[in-house]
Amino acid sequence: MPTLQTKHTIEEAIDTLYADQSFLPELKAERRTQIFESGKEILTTTDKIIKSYIRVSRDNGSVVRIPAYRIQHNNIAGFYKGGIRFSEGVNEEEVENLAILMTLKNALHKLPYGGAKGGVVLDPKTFSDRELYLVSKKYVHRFAPDIGPEHDIPAPDVGTNEKIMDWMVGEYKTIHPGENYLGSFTGKSIENGGACGRREATGKGTFHSYSWLLTQWLRKKVEEGTSFKNPLKQKQFEGLKKLLEKSDQGESITVAVQGFGNVGSVAALEAYHCEELRHKVVAIGDYRVTLYHEEGLNIPRLAEYMKDHGVIPATPEELKLAGIEAELKDRSAILTSDVDVLFLAAIENQITQDNMNEIQAQLIVEGANAPIAQEADRFLHEQGTVIIPDILANAGGVIVSYLEWKQDRVTQLFSEEQVFAEMNNYMVSTFEEVFERYFGRDYETIRKTCYTQAVGRLLSLLYRHGKLY
Ligand code: NAD
Repeated sequence: MPTLQTKHTIEEAIDTLYADQSFLPELKAERRTQIFESGKEILTTTDKIIKSYIRVSRDNGSVVRIPAYRIQHNNIAGFYKGGIRFSEGVNEEEVENLAILMTLKNALHKLPYGGAKGGVVLDPKTFSDRELYLVSKKYVHRFAPDIGPEHDIPAPDVGTNEKIMDWMVGEYKTIHPGENYLGSFTGKSIENGGACGRREATGKGTFHSYSWLLTQWLRKKVEEGTSFKNPLKQKQFEGLKKLLEKSDQGESITVAVQGFGNVGSVAALEAYHCEELRHKVVAIGDYRVTLYHEEGLNIPRLAEYMKDHGVIPATPEELKLAGIEAELKDRSAILTSDVDVLFLAAIENQITQDNMNEIQAQLIVEGANAPIAQEADRFLHEQGTVIIPDILANAGGVIVSYLEWKQDRVTQLFSEEQVFAEMNNYMVSTFEEVFERYFGRDYETIRKTCYTQAVGRLLSLLYRHGKLY
């Protein structure tokens, strides 16, 4: 039950803040208890869950009613914000969990947004363009009273893209003639008010969370001769140092990337082209296959193939067509590859109790949301594996969405350079706080550090708005 796990982690973060007398120090004794309990009530419950059915005529003449959701978790930090997913696996529990993660992610990176998520239960690969167009229009029609540029701003997620956002904005404009409509959705095409670099933002940001940790934070700590009293943190520090030394001594850090879509393909390209660290991307995988090559895969060529085919080559014939040399392995092999760094950029719940013992990477970066189940997360952490959690690593997309929403208010486009510079500013200021706090203070895991920081911001806002009593 991922939602229960997320809510439990929020409660733990609130307990940590409760015990920290420097947080909201004016609250004492019974009043402190009451206010923090009230915060728990609010942040572990969801503001609004809307479920509806979208009626669509299929190309074969049949008419289907498809379940669709918009779930708004909390808006204390600003308008609700979060993607819309088109996937067969969509269900209320998953959408709610993703909405909560959005509230936390936005709070962690100090964006002026709350958290929401949407979903439609369909496999977009089995729907024609005409059918997807109808689903998109009807989604907006159904949820129109609950979305808008100053209320709830959706964006693309798994199975949706800029074309779908453009259709959705078109429908929003029709429903609200004469009103501001550009900021009602982000992740649109550039011609339609989208931000330069939005597609690459999450992958670039995910890679940056890892490269910044090694090349900025770690290098500085090594130069300062830092060591940590906590044996686990020292073990993690030593593990990271080995990676940096490997690269500095001319060897390559080996990398595997699960998922080769918007996030994974860009993260893999960033690793391939990175100048500050030497990498070999030895494995990539998608929903069909794992490709492995000990000497490193030709990632630019695979990205080109992906652009044309929507999948990576999965048979000897397809490998030949793509001009790629690789061993073909089954799709789950990617997770247990013998590599230094593993990027998870596919879907939820990939590392679980079933495979956690076989994970070999020293460092795992969560480009996807919630790809590691709770037990596996604890187990890997206790082994000394460093995990850069989703709400820290994959915020590039929502940060650039925020820039898109801002530029749509003044109808003036930021350049790609401005977009990535601003995205990096937001992310680096969060990385600095999180890594410093995790290694330098008593926080148990990097994930808990992130949650505590995010929840601290939300509690403080709730308290100042007079919502806790
Ligand atoms: P995408 O649809 O572009 O790509 C998903 C990739 O995962 C594809 O290569 C697909 O084949 C692969 N995949 C799907 N199921 C798999 C399985 N069972 N095993 C192995 N591979 C599998 O999606 P995306 O936009 O790249 O998003 C990937 C993840 O990142 C999702 O969890 C999403 O919520 C998260 N995320 C995306 C963004 C964004 O801006 N795109 C932002 C934040 C978080």
